Amino acid sequence: MGDGANRWDGGGGSPDLKVRGSISPRITIARMSQSRRDFLAVSTVGVVASTFGRPALVRAWQQQPAPITPLFTAIRRDVGFFTARGGTIGYLINANGVAVVDSQYPDSAKLCVDGLQERSKNRGVDILINTHHHADHTGGNPAFKGIAKKIVANKRAAELQQQVYDDAVKAATAKGGAAPAGILVADRTFTDTWSESVGDEKLTAKTYTPAHTSGDAIVFFEKANVVHLGDLMWNRVHPVIDRAAGASIANWIKIMDAISRVHDKDTIYIAGHTNAKFPATCSQSDLAMMRDYLSSLLAFVSFQIKGGKSRDEIIAMKDVLPNFTDHGPLLARSLTPAYDELTAK
Ligand SMILES: [Zn+2]
Repeated sequence: MGDGANRWDGGGGSPDLKVRGSISPRITIARMSQSRRDFLAVSTVGVVASTFGRPALVRAWQQQPAPITPLFTAIRRDVGFFTARGGTIGYLINANGVAVVDSQYPDSAKLCVDGLQERSKNRGVDILINTHHHADHTGGNPAFKGIAKKIVANKRAAELQQQVYDDAVKAATAKGGAAPAGILVADRTFTDTWSESVGDEKLTAKTYTPAHTSGDAIVFFEKANVVHLGDLMWNRVHPVIDRAAGASIANWIKIMDAISRVHDKDTIYIAGHTNAKFPATCSQSDLAMMRDYLSSLLAFVSFQIKGGKSRDEIIAMKDVLPNFTDHGPLLARSLTPAYDELTAK
């Protein structure tokens, strides 16, 4: 293999990206090797590389550190976000209605519902929208029972939520264990877009798939010019990429540009997950960073494959991607789907 073929060019990180230190004091960030060929192993943080089925995937995102304090943060024009445990929740409270995007887990959803009821003088919730099926975004749906008038999701997301739950019930039953806690699946679904006014705000959910899963949608609060991106946006955190649910990194890269084209420089984006050192809200340059991170991930893994490394060796790698040092060392949850996508027939 020629020298040129061995070279990995870093995938083109955004030149205006600000690098602001490492994700954790436990992690030592090292510079990329000058040999052009290798990356330095930089972390003492161990992640078990294993075959990466759905249960392992669930464990991977549940292990993410998350703040335990429920927090409501205003963004603009009656729209804000709620953080506690799981994916960021977006909310709207205006004089004539309440809308919520995603529901985290049952315990944190209860805290969110209580806070919304207090802030809206017990108006209830006109609409709960799920951006996708994962349990850290839909697990709290039951807490909205009797509170939310309807739950809306992309059709595929609703199907995946049911399918994952049915699989979990089967697995538990096979082991003679107790069935997992019940779920609540959207009662209204859409395939491409869905719109509705809540008070003087207009909400539009739009499908962008395949990317993080095969059922991702984003939610646009038009007057506020705020977009909840669900798990299409991981702000300086290695993403979960759910290949079992039909994810595609190559298409996700295109989708980040497509979303940027539809919205504008003034749009404020809500990220599904955020590095604790960074805000849950993002700008267009952060979307470009997410796009470039995904390109960089694919380029890195492609380089390792061409260099003859095995699947097990690659998914155990702890390198830091240049231009993406805030993410910290690579994780198996991102490397495994990248490897599998690149080597899929
Ligand atoms: Zn997710």
